[in-house]
Amino acid sequence: MRCPSCSSMENKVIDSRINQTGDITRRRRECLACQGRFTTYERVEAIMPMIIKKDGRREPFNRDKIFIGIQKSCQKRPITTAQIEKTVTRIERRMAAFSVKELPSRAVGELVMQALHQLDTVAYIRFASVYREFKDVEEFVADLKETPQPPESDDEMMFEFANPEKEEK
Ligand SMILES: [Zn+2]
Repeated sequence: MRCPSCSSMENKVIDSRINQTGDITRRRRECLACQGRFTTYERVEAIMPMIIKKDGRREPFNRDKIFIGIQKSCQKRPITTAQIEKTVTRIERRMAAFSVKELPSRAVGELVMQALHQLDTVAYIRFASVYREFKDVEEFVADLKETPQPPESDDEMMFEFANPEKEEK
């Protein structure tokens, strides 16, 4: 961030605000060389965690994969592409909000299931049946019966999925 008056690179942030959609940070800065003040608008880069696969390998988060998975589950359902987009974005935001470097693929699957649970029951059941690899019908029905409501707050999710110490045990 170069000072527009004297081109110095040295400055301090005196105020930071985030816009309503949460993707732009507006920062008020003061140049340490000339004390001039200026404002910068910075795009918030959502830091997506690496995904820990079942076999322990890590891979970068792939938005398309989730989109396609949800799209498949929503086939012939009254769900628009825009709704799917929105759902994927919400999942992404929650993942980024954990602020962890790595997240097990299982946690991503759970997030998708919760999002689908809110979006469309049929889509949810389709996704859950594939994702959880139910061995028989009884197992699937039993699981459906005890499907919990999504957690009330992100804090709850955070504790369950993104506590690194807990994951390693
Ligand atoms: Zn300056």
